Amino acid sequence: MTLLSTNITFLNDNDRINIVEKPLEFLKSLKGLTVYDIEGVNQNKTRIITTLIHGNEPSGLIACHLWLKSNERPATNVRIIFCNPEAAQTKPYFTHRYLSQNDDLNRFFTLAAKTNVIADNKQNIKSQVTFRAQQILSLICNTNKNELKPNKGSVEAILDLHNTSGASPAFAVAIKSDIKHKLLAEFFTDNMIKTTIPVGAIMEQALDAPIVTIECGGANENKSHQVATIGVQNFFDTVSLFKRESSLVKIRFNPLRVELKNDATVGFANHPLQTTDITLRVDIELLNNSVTPAGEFIGWNIDNAELLFQAIDSDNKDRATSLFETRGGLIYTIRAMQFYMVTSVTEIATKDCLFYITLIDNHSI
Ligand SMILES: [Zn+2]
Repeated sequence: MTLLSTNITFLNDNDRINIVEKPLEFLKSLKGLTVYDIEGVNQNKTRIITTLIHGNEPSGLIACHLWLKSNERPATNVRIIFCNPEAAQTKPYFTHRYLSQNDDLNRFFTLAAKTNVIADNKQNIKSQVTFRAQQILSLICNTNKNELKPNKGSVEAILDLHNTSGASPAFAVAIKSDIKHKLLAEFFTDNMIKTTIPVGAIMEQALDAPIVTIECGGANENKSHQVATIGVQNFFDTVSLFKRESSLVKIRFNPLRVELKNDATVGFANHPLQTTDITLRVDIELLNNSVTPAGEFIGWNIDNAELLFQAIDSDNKDRATSLFETRGGLIYTIRAMQFYMVTSVTEIATKDCLFYITLIDNHSI
């Protein structure tokens, strides 16, 4: 069964007049991988936004829909790519991160960059997702074999717009923290993580222009849509993206990915659940908002001795025991840390990860 269409829908300035009024109707109108190419005042450069890589993260679509509908002419050419409408169109709309188990598009870009899946060889969902990732990479590169590159000008910058599953302020993630990456992040946030943990995401790929992932904030929060809307508008309007030599963006280094061990399970409650190995406190998403001190209670571990989650660093080593401890089955932090992407959506916490952290006091463990 083909879940992902192999066709790409290319639209341009002439199609803006047909854009429907509401973002939900706009989502319903998308036919598979969809690209809008809009001509700018300066036609020597193209700025790219990718969004909807995850179908349950609407801020990028809401912001780009509003901007497309405005009929404004951008400072440079613009290419907007709606990457995975099929996941977002799976009912209930905007609730499916991906189409089925284990096919998270944003974990397939490294594989897609290394392999060459042909369109005919897409009998399983993994091949289909890899092919979609290849198509998206072709759409954002200056050079490619498939003639999918932007029509005019060279790619100047790429933003990949996401939401966090849990309530959260906006932050950026990139693999580089130079001034160009900071200035791109600053359209949305003053907080950026320089990540060294490879997961196969689009931002990890060697591209022709700087790429920054923007987590616009929680998927269900209006303020996230506002952050995205203002950021997209300014990204397209600004004449010179990289003129400034300094930025207010603060960089956090060396994130650790905290995930369940083996087949351990997690639940969320204000008492220890009898039905899961780990119970995180029900208000755990609040930890996204500010620095968490050492000694903070975060939940319960069914095993009194061994932690049933791990904290993986960039060397793929588990650092959990130097960051968390269990006392009588209760879990506490033992270092000051910033939590990111904490979610109480059980499926995402289980299949992807519980959360990320960066340390506050110094960069090493
Ligand atoms: Zn995402």
